[in-house]
Amino acid sequence: MSGFSRRGFIGSAALGLAAEANAEADQADFSFKNNVPDPLLAGHELPTFKFELEKSIPGKVVGGNNAREATVKQLPISKGIAGVSMRLEPGGLRELHWHATAAEWAYVREGRVRTTVIDPEGNFEVNDFGPGDIWYFPRGHGHALQGLGPGTAHFILIFDNGYFSEFGTFSITDWIGHSPKELVAKNLGLPAELIEKLPREEVYFGRGPAPTGPPGPILHGRLKSPRLTHKYEMLKQGPHSVHAGGREWRVGADRFPISQTVTGVVLELEPGGLRELHWHPTSDEWQYVLSGKVRVTMFGSHGRYRVETLQAGDVGYIPQGYGHSVENASDSQPARLLIGFNTGHYEAIDLSSWIAGNPRSLLENNFRINGAEADQFPRDRVFIAPKAGPPRHKEGYDVFPVAEPDRR
Ligand code: MN
Ligand code: MN
Repeated sequence: MSGFSRRGFIGSAALGLAAEANAEADQADFSFKNNVPDPLLAGHELPTFKFELEKSIPGKVVGGNNAREATVKQLPISKGIAGVSMRLEPGGLRELHWHATAAEWAYVREGRVRTTVIDPEGNFEVNDFGPGDIWYFPRGHGHALQGLGPGTAHFILIFDNGYFSEFGTFSITDWIGHSPKELVAKNLGLPAELIEKLPREEVYFGRGPAPTGPPGPILHGRLKSPRLTHKYEMLKQGPHSVHAGGREWRVGADRFPISQTVTGVVLELEPGGLRELHWHPTSDEWQYVLSGKVRVTMFGSHGRYRVETLQAGDVGYIPQGYGHSVENASDSQPARLLIGFNTGHYEAIDLSSWIAGNPRSLLENNFRINGAEADQFPRDRVFIAPKAGPPRHKEGYDVFPVAEPDRR
């Protein structure tokens, strides 16, 4: 071994050990990351937290198939979560691939999609999805997506890593196409003529006839189903929180057990409705406006406050722990948002319940008001305020997951 390559070897071995140590630290406790100052969030003003995803140029286009993405490159603040808007024509195929550095969560907006997925235990699942359905593929699990038609399927993908790029995935054609032909022949037992026919470069989007009817048997004929399904029919249920100002569907690991690293929300706001000031102790928040127009506020301490108006197709992002609110900016049209959190175990603290959990005397002192004035604060969590402001008495309800006691 030459001196140079030996140094290189020792260097990379040391790097490997450091990476292993970091990985261990990551698994042990994520909270230390909060202690590392993020230069992007340390300035006198907060950076933008808005990106016009649907107005951006797609990173990939093949026929009627295309994908637009929002990562730290397009939206630097979005370090914890990346998102993709993807469309598949009937028969369009997002080829077999896996993601080395992110789990994938998806919400179908329009059309129908078929997915296949394999897990490390050798279980397979083939599922068909329609509007309002969601899927979750754990980090590294191999999968493919296919447009079933009629019409184009449109879905929003959320990845639990803002540095993850959909265009940096591990695709089957890319892998096989760059492996030595002799190795592929030995591996798969295929004749040379057939290996010659396989693509040499990444296909990414395949095109072909739309499948008709059910998927049919898989190649080896035996379907071994996973213990936990990858599919959840989110909007087929009633909303989980209902208030005069709007309603919310929320699905995390409680209702959809495989989804350990993502919680998904559909938030519907009546005209003028307000999702009150709150923060999330344990996760970042990624927003995509499905319809309407909303005003999102973000508070970052030391008087730093930023407001962005998001239209349909725009993306917003709130870092973990930052105060924020979402308000329907229209007086006549409802607004709908898709929201993703990079945790399967959602947590939030709302301003109204925080205040209501304190003695009157403390509030008098803190806000420099008298007792009668302190009495005017809400007694119950507001959560979603209607246009006219919160009612004096509790309204609305929450449907808690089965695992939790009914606190209504
Ligand atoms: Mn994928
Ligand atoms: Mn939030």
